[in-house]
Amino acid sequence: MTNSTTSASSPAPGTVAQAGPLLPSLERIIQQEYAAVRLPDDAAALDPADAAKVRAVVTSGRVGVPSALMAALPNLEIVTNFGVGYDTTDVAQAAERGIQVTNTPDVLTDCVADTALGLMLDVFRRFGASERFLRDGRWESGGFPLTRRFSRSTVGILGLGRIGQAIARRAAAFDATVLYTTRRPVESVTWEHIPSAVELARRSDVLVVAVPGGAATDGLVDAEVLRALGPDGFLVNIARGSVVDEDALIDALEAGEIAGAGLDVFAHEPHVPPRLIRDDVTLLPHVGSGTRETREDMRDLTLANLRAHLAGQPLPTPVPETAGLAALTH
Ligand code: NAP
Repeated sequence: MTNSTTSASSPAPGTVAQAGPLLPSLERIIQQEYAAVRLPDDAAALDPADAAKVRAVVTSGRVGVPSALMAALPNLEIVTNFGVGYDTTDVAQAAERGIQVTNTPDVLTDCVADTALGLMLDVFRRFGASERFLRDGRWESGGFPLTRRFSRSTVGILGLGRIGQAIARRAAAFDATVLYTTRRPVESVTWEHIPSAVELARRSDVLVVAVPGGAATDGLVDAEVLRALGPDGFLVNIARGSVVDEDALIDALEAGEIAGAGLDVFAHEPHVPPRLIRDDVTLLPHVGSGTRETREDMRDLTLANLRAHLAGQPLPTPVPETAGLAALTH
């Protein structure tokens, strides 16, 4: 396996490559320290001689290393992913070829959970809509309509991992009743586990989506789940656009089958369907982890993984699908 050939000495230029845009300071560091090259967006445009040099790719959760690009890199040893979600990288191919994949868990949990709370408060209390009302000069003609109380509501969380639990703790501070759905109940918490997403939606005032993206969760929030949420229920999605059937969501909103939605993520970013741009939907341009502090922590963890690999050291945060490879190669 190629991973055993890594050494602490500075790798040859072209060994480290970049896929897609990165945080500018991360791009600068990998260019200065490793003379990193930027890979073409189209894998077919990759020069085979350059491709053969690449042992490490630094990428983001939005771009990743999809199947065709990974297949075009014969000596790839590691993908270091800036972001906790890595559904854009072909982890099945990586595991099969002995390529390690790392991500940036934990360091972004607080900011993403804060974003979920912001969206929940906004869909219940309609602060954004009421601010637009004031700015448009409509206050002079009468007060803003009454909204809904968030405190003491029932918050259903689909996916109770690192981020889901941080959302639950915050919701509990608002005296909310927390319910959750996962494939396996989480033993360390006392919140009620609900086995199905439909039943969770039926019992919740707001359904918050916090599962990973990818094939296993594609369209998990479908028309049936939305109908179960009901005309007084809100949907909040800070996970991945792929988890929600976006057409079904638009239909449910237009039919008044749900009360509104708060979305940080979309099916085809940065495209947002014009029919989603409605007053009862709060829309954010995928800013969940987007604070200076958190992005710097994510950069540092991405670099720690890259440096550990190049030095032949254990990786700080391998993803579960390839974590076993570290034990085999070090
Ligand atoms: P995590 O710790 O791995 O948690 C994932 C949770 O989802 C676990 O509780 C898991 O439990 C559950 N889950 C997985 N598949 C499921 C399914 N089919 N049905 C029900 N539950 C399922 O991940 P995390 O660190 O909390 O991150 C979650 C996701 O948030 C990331 O993967 C990423 O896509 C997204 N994210 C978004 C932003 C943003 O900017 N908006 C930023 C960071 C992360 P079981 O395995 O027991 O089912």
